[in-house]
Amino acid sequence: MLHGVQKAYSGYINDKSRLVKSASGGFAYSFAYSFIKKGNIVYSVRYSSDFRQGEWARATTFEEISRFQGSKYVESKKIYDNFNLYERLKQDLESGLTVLVIGLPCDIGAIKSYLTKEYQKLYCIDLICHGPTIKKVADEYLTALEKKYRSKLIDFSVRYKKNGKWMPIYLRAEFENKKIYMKPFYDTDYGIAFSIMSRPCCYKCKFKSVNHKSDITIGDYWGITKANLKEWNDMGVSVAFVRTDKGEALINAIRDICTVNETNIDFAMKNNRLINEQKIKDKHYPVFIDSFNNYNLHSAIKKSFSKTERLLKAIKRGIKIVLPREFLLLGKRLINSFNTLQK
Ligand SMILES: Cc1cc2nc3c(=O)[nH]c(=O)nc-3n(C[C@H](O)[C@H](O)[C@H](O)COP(=O)(O)OP(=O)(O)OC[C@H]3O[C@@H](n4cnc5c(N)ncnc54)[C@H](O)[C@@H]3O)c2cc1C
Ligand code: SF4
Repeated sequence: MLHGVQKAYSGYINDKSRLVKSASGGFAYSFAYSFIKKGNIVYSVRYSSDFRQGEWARATTFEEISRFQGSKYVESKKIYDNFNLYERLKQDLESGLTVLVIGLPCDIGAIKSYLTKEYQKLYCIDLICHGPTIKKVADEYLTALEKKYRSKLIDFSVRYKKNGKWMPIYLRAEFENKKIYMKPFYDTDYGIAFSIMSRPCCYKCKFKSVNHKSDITIGDYWGITKANLKEWNDMGVSVAFVRTDKGEALINAIRDICTVNETNIDFAMKNNRLINEQKIKDKHYPVFIDSFNNYNLHSAIKKSFSKTERLLKAIKRGIKIVLPREFLLLGKRLINSFNTLQK
C-alpha cells in the first residue's frame, strides 16, 4: 500500500462521443453510468444555470448524469432552494438505496462526518484536487464576457477538448447569439486565477495522502505519454487509485464500457503530486489577492505579472502547443545533463 492505495488503473470510456465531453478519460461518467443502469442513485456537481458556480444534485437518469460531465473549477453549493445534499443523501441511505457520490476530497470528508456511521450501500469517489477558484472570479469573468458578446451564456467549459484533444485544455463559452469564444484555459484570466488563487483551506488541506475518505480517487493521468501505446488515448486518459474493496468493485463495474489497464502506482502518483501533497502558494499570490480584493480580476493579473512575464508565458504556451511532449522532455533531459556536467 502506498499512501493508502491498493492498486492503480488507467483508462478511458470507449464511446468517443462521451469521452469528448468528459474532463479526462471519462471514468467519473462511467462509474455514474454503471449506477444509473442498475436503477441506483448518483450525487455529484453540475453548473448552476448561469455557470457562475457548481451545485450538487441528485441524479437518477442518464440525462442528469451528463450534466455532471466536465470539471467545474469553481466552488460549489450543497444547500440551495429546496435541496440539501446532506439530508437528501441520508434519507436515501436510510431507505436502503444504493448510492454513488462523486466530489472533491473535502466534500467526501464533510459527507462522511455528517453521516457519522458507515453505510454498506454508499460508494464514494473523490477527485485529485488542486482546489477550485472562488465564485467572484467566475462572476467577474463571465459577466465581462457576456457584456463583450452582448449575449447570454448558454454553454461553458473550462476543460473543452478542441478537435477532440485532451491537451492543451481550452476554455469555451457559447452565447445565445451563436457566437463562440475559445482560448487555452491557462491563458485566460479565469485560468490564471484558478492556478494562483485557491481558498485558504486548500493550502492546508486535510484530505491528502492516507486522509482521503473515498473508495477511489480519480484524476487526469498526467505524465503518461504516447510512448505507452497500451494506455494512451489523445482524447483523454483517467487515472484511478483504488483504496478499498468497494473501489475494486467499482472498477469491475465499468470494464464493459471502458478500456482499463492496471498501472504503476508510484509513477502515477509522482506525476500528480497533489493527490498526496499540499498546494503551495504561488509567488504572485500576495499581490494578486490584494489587488483582486481592492480592484478586480483583470487588474489583479496586470499588477501581479510584469509585461515580460506575460510575454514569456504566452511564448512558453505557444512552444508547448507546437512541439510534441517527447521533444520537450528530451530538451529538459539535455539541460539536466548539461547542468550535471557543469557541477
Ligand atoms: C477544482 C478541481 C481541481 C482539480 N484538480 C486536479 C488536479 O490537480 N489533478 C488532477 O489530476 N485532477 C484534478 N481534478 C480532476 C479532473 O479535473 C477531472 O475532474 C477528473 O480527472 C475526472 O475526469 P473524468 O473525465 O473522469 O470526469 P467526467 O466524466 O468529466 O466527470 C467529472 C466529475 O467530477 C465532478 N465534478 C466536477 N467539478 C466538480 C467540483 N467543482 N466539485 C465536485 N465535483 C466536481 C462532476 O460532477 C463529475 O461527476 C480537479 C477537479 C476539480 C473540480
Ligand atoms: S484542496 Fe482540499 S480543501 Fe481545497 S477543495 Fe480540494 S479537497 Fe477541498
